[in-house]
Amino acid sequence: MSTPHAQVIQARRNPSAPGAYIVTIKCPLCTDPHTHGVPSLEELRAGTGHRVAHCTHRRDWGGYVVDPYDGPVMGAVMRRA
Ligand SMILES: [Zn+2]
Repeated sequence: MSTPHAQVIQARRNPSAPGAYIVTIKCPLCTDPHTHGVPSLEELRAGTGHRVAHCTHRRDWGGYVVDPYDGPVMGAVMRRA
């Protein structure tokens, strides 16, 4: 079985981690939205490339790959103190 891909439906800056992002994806397994942290803009644009298993609706592995995202990013730009 191939790993399903999850489409990013929203991306925003992580207010508690400057330079990092939080994405909301549409889960290909249960169709609910799930959120994931992304450590950098590069990974956001390229797709996280790794498999994540945040879907708690599944009793099995529940993994998927977060697709690349090139859309708008919400949230204020954070400055390092
Ligand atoms: Zn899910």
